[in-house]
Amino acid sequence: MSGHHDLEVLNPATEEVVATVPGAGERDVDAAVRRAAAAQTGWAAAAPGERARLLRRFAAVVDRHNEELARLEVREAGHTVGNARWEAGNVRDLLDYAAGGVERLNGRQIPVPGGIDVTFLEPLGVVGVIVPWNFPMPVAAWGFAPALAAGNAVVVKPAETTPLTALRLAELALEAGLPEHLLQVLPGRGDVAGEALVRHPGVAKIVFTGSTRVGKRVMALCSDQVKRVTLELGGKSPNIVFADADLEAAAAAAPMAFLDNAGQDCCARTRVLVQRPVYDRFLELLEPAVRSVRVGDPADERTQMGPLISRAQLERVRSYADGAGAAIRGKAPEGPGFWFPPTVLTDVAPDAPAAREEIFGPVAVVLPFEDEEDAVRLANDTEYGLSGSLWTRDVGRALRVSRAVRAGNLSVNSHSSVRYWTPFGGFAGSGIGRELGPDALTAFTETKNVFISTEDSAP
Ligand code: NAP
Repeated sequence: MSGHHDLEVLNPATEEVVATVPGAGERDVDAAVRRAAAAQTGWAAAAPGERARLLRRFAAVVDRHNEELARLEVREAGHTVGNARWEAGNVRDLLDYAAGGVERLNGRQIPVPGGIDVTFLEPLGVVGVIVPWNFPMPVAAWGFAPALAAGNAVVVKPAETTPLTALRLAELALEAGLPEHLLQVLPGRGDVAGEALVRHPGVAKIVFTGSTRVGKRVMALCSDQVKRVTLELGGKSPNIVFADADLEAAAAAAPMAFLDNAGQDCCARTRVLVQRPVYDRFLELLEPAVRSVRVGDPADERTQMGPLISRAQLERVRSYADGAGAAIRGKAPEGPGFWFPPTVLTDVAPDAPAAREEIFGPVAVVLPFEDEEDAVRLANDTEYGLSGSLWTRDVGRALRVSRAVRAGNLSVNSHSSVRYWTPFGGFAGSGIGRELGPDALTAFTETKNVFISTEDSAP
């Protein structure tokens, strides 16, 4: 398929059409990659300080448009306005952080006999960034900010359902003075524009964030050209509560760890594992905490949880949660919009689909465990390995369990896992490669080694 098609963007809280944008076909992708390649040459040749200055200006322009970007995200993705402001702020921070790395992207000098040996961190060229609908702004910027800082051009393929903030960010890049075509955003269908970007020989690396199913296909397509690929995929992350934990704090924090963004979060702590002696008490504390989460109009400042992204997603979540007996069920608005209430399932077998598969909605399962060994076994009994939390007052146990759980991002007595200045990525089925953190720029470079002879070659 190579033809054009229109994408209809719906407000998930009201089902009203927010905008219609043209979707890119294969030819559009080809033209964009060619334009990007031409822009990249000049960008890579510019002085590092100049690239850094332009990226800082881009950050400043994004900051000035924070409210506008946030309101757009509320409309196209149903994010709560508080979250959406944070997300636009995250784009600013990612750009500032990446800008700080441009003049520090140092190679090395390695001792060798007969000359000197130096390494260069060369930009890759054109990078394709494929973005899911759950965090349209941050995930796009996790890719484009460090990629641009390292001297690359970027083509972003946003999700069909949420192209608007990415399109606006590309306009703001131009306003900030970034060269034309250096950062392009091409909305379109995944199987059309996304796949054309992955297959394009002019694209040196694909940064893919999305489902494990599509990620596997992207990786297979990349292998054909030995194309570099980073995959940030799904998760089914554990929240392990030991009997010695501050139970009140653990129960108070547990709801938003799986309800934030209506559970449409790759790091959502959706498997709550609780040590047997405190299992009943924990559920008693969890119930009022879940019920008190305010679900409703995402544009309202007080709202903590908005709708799901689409009818398809709503049906998917229902298929997991409706049959099973819910131990705790919160409230959600009736009427138009893709609403699903906060839901906690107990009495679910550890091998049931609800306990194993990524639901990507406001649904968690609570499972009991016996001891530390059992907790680690259950935590690791998954195809994924993205995030996880553990609650305990025992420092030794916190470290032992953190080392034993096979996941890329763990937190102790906390649920935070994503900071732009710490590395992020998954083990096993959750992906390959790391983003963010001190090495973010290096991931968008190729190391070149050069030996220069100091032998006197004069006759
Ligand atoms: P998805 O269906 O895999 O889509 C992700 C992106 O890939 C979209 O832009 C999609 O386009 C595109 N795509 C679809 N088919 C493609 C193909 N054949 N070739 C190239 N691109 C293609 O995932 P999603 O449902 O949007 O997002 C939810 C998933 O993302 C969850 O599994 C979540 O855990 C994961 N996620 C992971 C992280 C992380 O950092 N690990 C972060 C956020 C989300 P369309 O929009 O047209 O389908």
